[in-house]
Amino acid sequence: MDDYVSNLESWFIKNRRELPWRMDKNPYHVWISEIMLQQTRIEAVLSYYERFMKELPTISSLADVSEDKLLKLWQGLGYYNRARNLKRAAVMIMEEYGGVFPTRYSEIIQLPGIGEYTASAISSICFGERQVTVDGNVMRVFTRFYNDFSNISKDRTRVMIHDKLLSVMGGNPGRFNEALMELGEVVCIPNGIPKCSICPLREGCQSNKNCNYFMFPVKDEKRIKEEVEMTVIIPVWNDKTFVRKRKKPGLLHNLYEFYNVVGNITMKDVKDVSKEFGKVERIKKSICYTHVFTHKKWKMQAYFVFLESVDCRSLFYSISDIENSFALPTAFSPFLYQLKEELK
Ligand code: SF4
Repeated sequence: MDDYVSNLESWFIKNRRELPWRMDKNPYHVWISEIMLQQTRIEAVLSYYERFMKELPTISSLADVSEDKLLKLWQGLGYYNRARNLKRAAVMIMEEYGGVFPTRYSEIIQLPGIGEYTASAISSICFGERQVTVDGNVMRVFTRFYNDFSNISKDRTRVMIHDKLLSVMGGNPGRFNEALMELGEVVCIPNGIPKCSICPLREGCQSNKNCNYFMFPVKDEKRIKEEVEMTVIIPVWNDKTFVRKRKKPGLLHNLYEFYNVVGNITMKDVKDVSKEFGKVERIKKSICYTHVFTHKKWKMQAYFVFLESVDCRSLFYSISDIENSFALPTAFSPFLYQLKEELK
């Protein structure tokens, strides 16, 4: 690949997308964007990033933010521990580095929630350190370019790719890394046909020559996800509803949810359970929605329970309160949408 590095970097300089975190080499901006981009595509991250930076423009504002506000800002991105680690890392930067982002890979990787990939990205892009970023995009480009059948789920493959790329990297580590990642995002794409005709690596690419790009990368089969059936009960009183905070420990802890029980229970059981909120007027079956997490699926059947009176008014909130003040994970947002439709 060394013969094509200058092609790659020239292509990047001409074609790179103007993204908000590329406007400067501020490590805070690169850090937040890299954490948001794990598992999420750039187009989806843009609005989250803008909102986050508007509310928390500095490391010290992140260190001081309340967990509720932080989770609300992260709502929709999933993987909420990543947000909690951002705050932990910000506190550490304030306490141990006087609020100035550390400049060396060996220091950056000590921060909570920062692994090899993110530490390499920040240290190479912001500080020019010779570190290689090896993510899914880079591994796809690499294995296609070399027709390499190594299994990318194995650590040794990642190490091999890292070492090889380090040996071909030119004098601008940040640009090299960004160019390879960008190529994987927009040209050597994961789903669909790669755009080989506009690829700066095409002359040397073995997959382009053999027309076998679809065979790469080789990786382990995905694990089968555990499926959990749940019944979601949404009490409705005076255009308000009930949400509660999820308990620690466990998935989505400290975020908010609609009341739910494990299992697909009957309408009669829904009525019995709902009595704890107040006097039930009528019950209406709503949608069934399946939410897929990394290792789990929640298959949820929802019911609206309309109440004549309630025992504790202060536990009921309007929809705008919920939208503005509570971090309700994506798993529950279809029900909020349905409730809005119901109350129109
Ligand atoms: S030539 Fe095609 S397969 Fe090869 S790296 Fe470029 S886009 Fe990917």
